[in-house]
Amino acid sequence: MIQCNICSEQLSNPVFISPGKSITSLCEILPGKTEVYFCGNCGHVQTLALENIESYYDTDYKILIDSEEEDQLYQVIGDKKIFRFDHQVNMLLEKLKLPSGASILDFGCAKATTLKKLLTVRNDLDAYVFDVSKMYIPFWDKFIPKQNQATYTTPAEWNGKFDFIQSFFVMEHVAKPNEMLDQVHSLLKTGGQIYFIVPNVSTNIADFVVADHVNHFSRCSLLHLFSSVGFTDVSIDDQSHNGAFIVYARKSASSTGVRCNSAEVGFYSAKVKDMANFWNTLSQKIISFENENKYISTAAIYGSGFYGTFISTCLRDFDKVKYFVDNNPFRQGKELLGKPVVSPADPGNDVEIVYVGLNPNFAKRTIEALSEWKSRNYKYCFL
Ligand SMILES: [Zn+2]
Repeated sequence: MIQCNICSEQLSNPVFISPGKSITSLCEILPGKTEVYFCGNCGHVQTLALENIESYYDTDYKILIDSEEEDQLYQVIGDKKIFRFDHQVNMLLEKLKLPSGASILDFGCAKATTLKKLLTVRNDLDAYVFDVSKMYIPFWDKFIPKQNQATYTTPAEWNGKFDFIQSFFVMEHVAKPNEMLDQVHSLLKTGGQIYFIVPNVSTNIADFVVADHVNHFSRCSLLHLFSSVGFTDVSIDDQSHNGAFIVYARKSASSTGVRCNSAEVGFYSAKVKDMANFWNTLSQKIISFENENKYISTAAIYGSGFYGTFISTCLRDFDKVKYFVDNNPFRQGKELLGKPVVSPADPGNDVEIVYVGLNPNFAKRTIEALSEWKSRNYKYCFL
């Protein structure tokens, strides 16, 4: 029997089972299906955990590890590209008042790039790093003293030490978020603050089927989690980071028991059914489009991230795809599933069909805004 990761309610039937193979957040294709469950008690959505989850994060999960500078494109405004780590620093500085000399721990930090960028504008901060892998130590050694680093477990002398603990895109991977938050709670000083970001599946529907995201939080499940563990002044912001929640809260002595009302959970339950339906019909939509255009022999996929990978798992004839197109310079020149990743500025006159592997909320706008593509007569498949 499966239990809710947040409130321990027993969960019976999955709301979604993937029709094909599973895809991870790093766009690896894994055998086996992705099963998604909904908790009608606290409004949480969760995915059956990968087997061997500890060793996966210790040795296999290599996010943006190719170089120091590698980053994800967050947003393009006009000609200006904004990258995710910069946006995270700007938001943190806007939302938290960090006193001079405050201690701050980056929990589950990977390369700790956000912290590194934060320190370039706030070098007065006393910074620490922690992760469940040793593979990021060479990155940490460049800017964090050895005694401020920890792997696998945090040292006892760190308990009650920190003014702030930040954590970016970690808790969605954690099979026991209560335990992680308990640990954060004991590491903070009384009155200290946690600040973290997790995906918001309501505004980034890809998150629903990501195989290694065991948690898909809602406003209700976040509130339930934070108030149970002993945090107060819980602020849940779904506006300041596209497709994600920014959550910050203050350590308190006891749990507050704040909950959503059942009407809000019920409303969300209907939304979850829509999301399941979206993914159930999507692969069919891609297959139908492919069938209707079976006499066209060349195609490209716009987007070399999750949506692009999903499209590739649906296509019957992936050989027709010549390349992936991506506007992120860190992706260009690489390969995905054996195909090159090229820039939208490349000529592109050797393909007729473009499958658009972008978040459907802004896919059309993104394609319309590509100045180089205004005169191109591609046949598009939008999700
Ligand atoms: Zn629950």
